[in-house]
Amino acid sequence: MPINFKSDAMNPPTDAMWDAMRSVEPGWVLDRDDATVRRLESAAAALAGKPAAVFLPTGRMACLVALMTFCERGTQIILDRRSHIAWCQEWNYASIAGLVPRYLQTPAPDEVETAITEAHFGHQPETSLVCLENTHTIAGGTCLTTEETRALSAIAHRHDVPVFLDGARLLYAAVALGTSVAELAAPADVVMFSLTKGIGAPVGAMLCGDADAMEGAWENARRLGVASLMFAGPLAAAGLVALETMAPRLGEDIRNARLLGHRLNAIDGIAVDLASLQTNIVMADVSGCGLNAATFVHALAGKGIAAHRLSDSVVRFTTHRLIGPPEMDRLVDAAATIAMAWGAGAATDAGG
Ligand SMILES: *Cc1c(COP(=O)(O)O)cnc(C)c1O
Repeated sequence: MPINFKSDAMNPPTDAMWDAMRSVEPGWVLDRDDATVRRLESAAAALAGKPAAVFLPTGRMACLVALMTFCERGTQIILDRRSHIAWCQEWNYASIAGLVPRYLQTPAPDEVETAITEAHFGHQPETSLVCLENTHTIAGGTCLTTEETRALSAIAHRHDVPVFLDGARLLYAAVALGTSVAELAAPADVVMFSLTKGIGAPVGAMLCGDADAMEGAWENARRLGVASLMFAGPLAAAGLVALETMAPRLGEDIRNARLLGHRLNAIDGIAVDLASLQTNIVMADVSGCGLNAATFVHALAGKGIAAHRLSDSVVRFTTHRLIGPPEMDRLVDAAATIAMAWGAGAATDAGG
């Protein structure tokens, strides 16, 4: 099996998760009457500091359900142009929820304010939701602090606009910032976090908010066909084990990512964005080696290492439970070999 730096969602369930999955009594999801799902929802709500939670099959669906729940069709949502929702889900919310995006160049408070107030001149739809993301995936797993989240949310709330926090990796942000998930989620009206990113459940995400909103969310999830997630108990059991046993070890992934980032950055031709290296994602620009990211990723694959091509020049490496010192040594050796071979090759080509 290759060493997988592609995503922290690519670590399989632990033995403890499989054991928990095997020993679950089946419940009845249709009436939200499955005891294990209920327990997971209570645990997630407590973690996020919200009154209620809904277990959903994926983070993307949790985002879509949040938008369907908080936004009238034809209204505008405000979101960072580089957010995961903008980047991966435009077709979901446009085609299913009928929403109009208003993209921010940077998720800065004054831009949010302008985006909301300009709509009042009558040429744009009313704003129904401001979307924030923590950690920010495309930016390299960067964190929004509690103060930043508060400042952005305060502007939205001043204009009676609710706030959705896409916190697929919010647990990493809490560890990196030395605070709690609840503290980071407090300014938002509704928050999503993933059970797969870093914490290893086979599927699932939690949408958390107040009880009325979560009733509405379940109604919308049913519209999308989620009501018959029949034997959801084992999935929820894995999610509970993920929260109990995996969340406490995320600091290790962050320490490993920082170490890895510095080691890769020391290789000639590779430049790591150390400022964005705040959690478990390492962004390495390999263009200084004289080759593009796709070629670099292909060369790594030839050495049994999987990585993610993020752009023409940037390769993304993610740390997780299955990445430790030996795996990082393998990657650093392989990257140095590739950088050296291509660096020399490029010099020869330039001469010829
Ligand atoms: C991965 C991710 C999602 C989607 O979560 P899935 O469980 O993979 O569907 C949403 N938002 C962000 C910021 C993500 O990184």
